[in-house]
Amino acid sequence: MRKIKTLLLFICLLPASMSFAQKNDSATIAAIIKEATGNSQLEILANELLNGIGPRLVGSPKMQQAHDWAVSKYGTWNIPARNEKWGEWRGWERGISHIDMVSPWVKSLEGTQLAWCPSTGGKTITADVIIIADVADSISFQQWLPNVKGKFVLIAMKQPTGRPDYNWEEFGTKESVEKMKKERAEQNDAWRKRLSKTGLSSKDLALALEKAGAAGIIGSNWSAGFGVNKIFGANTTKIPTVDIALEDYGLIFRLAEAGKAPKLSIRTDSKELGMMPTYNTVAEIKGTEKPDEYVMLSAHFDSWDGGTGATDNGTGTLVMMEAMRILKKIYPNPKRTILVGHWGSEEQGLNGSRAFVEDHPEIIKNIQVLYNQDNGTGRVVNVGGGGFLHSYEYISRWLSRVPATYKQALETRFPGSPAGGGSDNASFVAAGVPAFGLGSNSWLYGSYTWHTNRDTYDKIVFDDVRNNAILTAIMVYMACEDAAKAPRDKIVLPSNPRTGEAGKWPEQRSPTRKGGVN
Ligand SMILES: [Zn+2]
Repeated sequence: MRKIKTLLLFICLLPASMSFAQKNDSATIAAIIKEATGNSQLEILANELLNGIGPRLVGSPKMQQAHDWAVSKYGTWNIPARNEKWGEWRGWERGISHIDMVSPWVKSLEGTQLAWCPSTGGKTITADVIIIADVADSISFQQWLPNVKGKFVLIAMKQPTGRPDYNWEEFGTKESVEKMKKERAEQNDAWRKRLSKTGLSSKDLALALEKAGAAGIIGSNWSAGFGVNKIFGANTTKIPTVDIALEDYGLIFRLAEAGKAPKLSIRTDSKELGMMPTYNTVAEIKGTEKPDEYVMLSAHFDSWDGGTGATDNGTGTLVMMEAMRILKKIYPNPKRTILVGHWGSEEQGLNGSRAFVEDHPEIIKNIQVLYNQDNGTGRVVNVGGGGFLHSYEYISRWLSRVPATYKQALETRFPGSPAGGGSDNASFVAAGVPAFGLGSNSWLYGSYTWHTNRDTYDKIVFDDVRNNAILTAIMVYMACEDAAKAPRDKIVLPSNPRTGEAGKWPEQRSPTRKGGVN
């Protein structure tokens, strides 16, 4: 570790060209671009993975199917690939979710069971709803609890508006926008207090409702965009837990508030499969001059299962697979070994990549550089130095060989700061590997696709994904060819201005190897 006097984060646009250019490089780079644009496999891969297989929840049969698909796909490109087991997880298979309002009038509702939701055993449960009460404290909550018996309990706040803020800001008066935001903030605050006064965590609350005989739990995790909800996992063990879209949830909630006694019918099918093995898919193109040094591509393969994980992280997966395919064709004899990791269970805490780091110290110490992509379909516009002191030198040198059209609006940030979490590059950074996230532009990823029921094929912007496959392939090629091994010196992190404590680099952490069990 070397000390630098001040931590200067500077943003610069990269110079259009640098003197590193070589004739061979130019021919290889041109061939990479030609293959990526003239023979792109992205749409085919996306259709096979996202529509043919679908969502990839850890421990689910679809996750396994995806790993097997990736290995056989690499096989067709003559790239050796393998599934490496690193742990096991509660196996669960999603079945149908049917949610209807049957009184005071009939409407099929937009909603779905959460991951790991218990099955209703082939039956449809019809029951009244009850809104979780606003009680004084945990004692009063326990006294109120018997009221839930035989009812579906509404545990989410009724949103005052289904219009996202950008829509209000475009069309609303300044006064009405401010009023809406103020009222919503007050309601959010009141709802948070309502839940905290139960004295229970969200998990314990679900279990308490279940124990008290509730027929099911209904939430609505609005994602602040039109028609979009985030879909995570259930905490109940016997009764269904479903998420209902904002519009339909508001309908039921308002009817219940008005004393119109809405009745719902819910059926959730699912299968418990016991413990299932979990894997990473790893593929490699062997190096010729320095086979024991690695240039690594990285993207998590798993997803939540409300949508099909198209942009989280289907698109990162596509970028890395397509880059591998192109490199194998155009640059089949790399100087260093090119490795790609398609990680399992990133969503539950970077588990697949943490396991790989723990299981392969011999590889970890010899990784030249790693590129990870995991924030949506957009073209890469941010590359940071990850807190590695000399990252500017090599990343800039390699980036300079990427034609301008593939790095439009790309900003770099050196030396940057180390990734502490968020995605799999953090697992490698924690082990000292120069590992970098390729940051995409947003396409409203955070609200519209990240962990939502709308994370589907149609949200993919293929031109941007193609751009990223080209950028990644060139960056891998340059990292393989570089005569020098990328230095691993780290910056000294600034101290916390509030506590005065010295900044600490993230430490390597062990994965959860047996998940979904308590
Ligand atoms: Zn992700």
